[in-house]
This record gives sequence, structure tokens and C-alpha cells, in this order.
Amino acid sequence: MLGLQGKVAFVFGVASEDSIAWAICKYLSDSGVKLYLGYQKRFMSRIFQLKEKLPSIEGFYPLDVASDATTKEFFDAFSKENPGMKADILIHAIGFAPRACFDRPILFVEDSDINTAMTISANSLQRCLKFALPHLNPNSSTITLTYAASTRYVPSYGIMSMAKAALECWTRELACHLGPEGHRINAISSGPIRTIAASGIPGFDNILNHVADNAPLRRNVNQDDVAGTTLWLASPLASGVTGQVIHVDAGYSITMVPESIMKE
Ligand code: NAD
Repeated sequence: MLGLQGKVAFVFGVASEDSIAWAICKYLSDSGVKLYLGYQKRFMSRIFQLKEKLPSIEGFYPLDVASDATTKEFFDAFSKENPGMKADILIHAIGFAPRACFDRPILFVEDSDINTAMTISANSLQRCLKFALPHLNPNSSTITLTYAASTRYVPSYGIMSMAKAALECWTRELACHLGPEGHRINAISSGPIRTIAASGIPGFDNILNHVADNAPLRRNVNQDDVAGTTLWLASPLASGVTGQVIHVDAGYSITMVPESIMKE
């Protein structure tokens, strides 16, 4: 039904079993997709362990989106080992901001730290697609992960709010640029989920508790919720969907006045 059997996916952003990208790997794998992972060298030993759990991981190569050279490294390694092979799906689940972005008031965050957050968390979507394009089949589907702080204030999310706003803008720009060749690019705006990246956000547990109390579904989403929507977007079932930001957040983003104030 999903039409993904035998398809090939690049998955960027697995760092641990808690990574949203890891759940996406499992869902893609269950649908018959062959996986090629790009990993940061600091997570190499974990990737080796995780590879044993999912035989559909056919290759994994270092990827650091901080520069053109270290991004190209992934695609060079992929094409050397798999000459002529093309992918149908690209998962961009990458986010990072230096600690200093969260340690001081936003007015005083240094340019260099802002630039790092923007490069890694937003502009890297363009960088990944630039190098991926020669290795993508027509009608490919790219999915990136964003957060609702792109459009609404969330205390402590800081510079990452700007990065997510830019990432969503890249999603629309790239969707329009690559749409004529049939390529689709969409973003999933996930509710908060406990992962390595999320552990760097001050007050994250308070956000989790608030969402569980106030989201229409009265719970937080988990990695599987995001992976399910990713699978749909990756598949031909979503063939008419591109340039969108789709909220997988238990409905929290439609609320304005928190339900909890009614208890006071
Ligand atoms: P995670 O820590 O498991 O994944 C983040 C990934 O980014 C890691 O695999 C890391 O290796 C990768 N990364 C960071 N810098 C990189 C670089 N220079 N080059 C290549 N890869 C790099 O955490 P996650 O929560 O699964 O994050 C995945 C995505 O989901 C991120 O974009 C994050 O902002 C987004 N997101 C997360 C949440 C949440 O609450 N966890 C909510 C909304 C959106």
C-alpha cells in the first residue's frame, strides 16, 4: 500500500536509540526501504551498535554538515561503494546550537554562535540537497524536522527559533525550486520529545509537562508519532504534498489559552 518496497533512503540525524531519526529508520525498514546513514563521527560507536539491530542499514558514512567538504564526504563514500545507485528519500533530522546560545540573553549571543546554529540547523538542508541531488531519483521525497518556535515564542528556545524559521523557509524555497522535477520537500513540526538534542534546551521538562496538560490529545508525542507521518510523506500516498509544515504535536499548536488556567 505504501509503495516503498525496494526504495532507498539517506537518513541523517541518528545519534542514539532516542533519536527521532532512529524511529524513522525502523519505520522505513519495516516498509522495505534500504537505508544509508550519515553520522557524526562523535556518535560512531553508537551507530555501529545500532546497525546490528537493523539489517536494512546497508551503509553508513561520516557526515558533518558544517562545511561543503565534510558534507560531500558522505556522498563520495556512498557513490564509491554503490556506483550508480540513487535514493528516493532523504531524511534531514539535524539540529545543533552551541551551548553559549542558551547561556546568555538572546541580545548578547555572539555572531559566531548564531552562525553555527543557522548553518547546522537551517542552511544544512540546502547543503545536503545540493550534494544529494545527483544521487536522487526524480520524484524523491525529503523530510526535515522543525519546531513550532519558528512562528511563536517559546521561552529558552532562543536562537533555535530563528534557525527553525529559516529551515521552514528553506523548505518552501527548495520545494518550489525542485518541484518541477517532481522532488518534494516537507517539514514535520514535532512536539517536544526527550532526545540528546532536546536535553540542551533549558526547562525542557517543564515544556513537556505543560504540553501533556494542555494539548488537545492530553499527551506528548513520541518518536513513533513522528515516524508514522514521515513514512506517509516519504510515500507516494503524499505525492501531492510539498513545501508544507505538518504539525505532529498532539494538536498543541492550535491552542492559544492554556486549559490549565481554568483550574486556577
Ligand atoms: P538527536 O540529538 O537525536 O538528533 C540530532 C542529530 O543532529 C544528531 O544525530 C546529530 O549527530 C545531528 N547533528 C548535529 N550537528 C551535526 C552536524 N554538524 N553534522 C551532521 N549531523 C549533525 O535529537 P532529535 O530530537 O532526534 O533531533 C532531530 C531533529 O528534530 C532536530 O532538527 C531537532 O531540532 C528536531 N526536533 C526535535 C524535537 C524534540 O523535542 N526532540 C522537537 C522538534 C524538532
